[in-house]
Amino acid sequence: MTAAHHPTAPPALVGVGLRKRFGDTVAVDGVDLEVPRGSLTALLGPSGCGKTTVLRMIAGLLTPDAGTIEIDGRTVTGPDVSVPPERRNVGLVFQDYALFPHLSVGRNVAYGLTGRSRRERRARVQQVLELVGLGGLSHRLPTALSGGQQQRVALARALAPAPDLILLDEPFSNLDAALRASVREEVRAILRAAEATAIFVTHDQEEALSLTDRVAVMHEGRLHQLADPQTLYTQPATRFVAEFVGEADVLPATRAGRYLVDTPIGRLPTAAPVGSAEVAVVIRPEALRLRAAADGAGTVVGISYFGHDQLVQVELDDGRVLRARRGPRLDLERGTRVSLTVDGPVVAFDHDGDGPGEPAEPAEPASAVDAPDRLAAVG
Ligand code: ATP
Repeated sequence: MTAAHHPTAPPALVGVGLRKRFGDTVAVDGVDLEVPRGSLTALLGPSGCGKTTVLRMIAGLLTPDAGTIEIDGRTVTGPDVSVPPERRNVGLVFQDYALFPHLSVGRNVAYGLTGRSRRERRARVQQVLELVGLGGLSHRLPTALSGGQQQRVALARALAPAPDLILLDEPFSNLDAALRASVREEVRAILRAAEATAIFVTHDQEEALSLTDRVAVMHEGRLHQLADPQTLYTQPATRFVAEFVGEADVLPATRAGRYLVDTPIGRLPTAAPVGSAEVAVVIRPEALRLRAAADGAGTVVGISYFGHDQLVQVELDDGRVLRARRGPRLDLERGTRVSLTVDGPVVAFDHDGDGPGEPAEPAEPASAVDAPDRLAAVG
């Protein structure tokens, strides 16, 4: 059994109560983060939400104002503890790859391999270059490589010392769209093959959902939810998560039963018990069904046709607009009156469902991130 799968091994990362302020800007406001070994985690959120600041604090490039960080069971940041970046056993992959242009690929990869004999270094460099599929390019200069190949050199350099944790800051943003999808898949396969634990920073929700095991969604310095992609999508913990991850429209609703709400499009079942008298419900476009009906509750006001599907906008009598995803057949047109139904139960939030609640006190255990009360906010 490898350390990565040992049941009693500590998590690769435990961050508790992390805070960082720059002047008047609170960049990170009480973030708890736990990352299991061998997992790929995305730090996802809009520009300025604090995700790079979290990554830099984990790397030791920034000192938090409060909070503790353990890597592989060892405290690297805490009261009276501040282990420098080079002694954290963390590998970094930056947005621009930060390769040394005057050093060959092999020397770039060997850069962080200290304390080994020349022979051991050479063998390890060859081993990781094979792992990233660049076995024959050790003598090339990085400038003679494609963007995707440079990305793999940066990854090989980070993997070479067998770090406890690999941190990747927007690693795909310099690649054009056509290349990005294939490089993403390659990087994922390489990290899996190396049994590495990795954290990606990204603002691309599709990238986060499709590439990683767990996604930490941040907004305005706070961690809103840390969950696997399916849970994030089907049980968003806050309204922000619902609207940021995937497409969602939100309707006001009133409690009509433990698992029932009344909405402008009728009575709907909910996925969890309804907490308050006044709530908001999330309608996913793919769950909204439309049918032409003279006595329907809405009117088609727009159709965007994509071939494989279409997005139909429906205006309700109160002026709200909902979106419905439908198949390729164009059987509705602007001005058609439609009835609306929703597939499956909906997620309802209390009206204060905008935020993740008060940030956890630094003394609380990091597992509070996944605590049931966080999920209970859904109901
Ligand atoms: P992006 O996706 O745009 O990189 P981000 O989510 O990574 O954004 P951060 O870079 O962590 O966000 O920044 C969080 C907030 O802290 C922002 O308001 C940013 O302007 C501010 N900030 C970050 N670094 C500094 C700094 N060195 N000095 C002052 N303000 C900073």
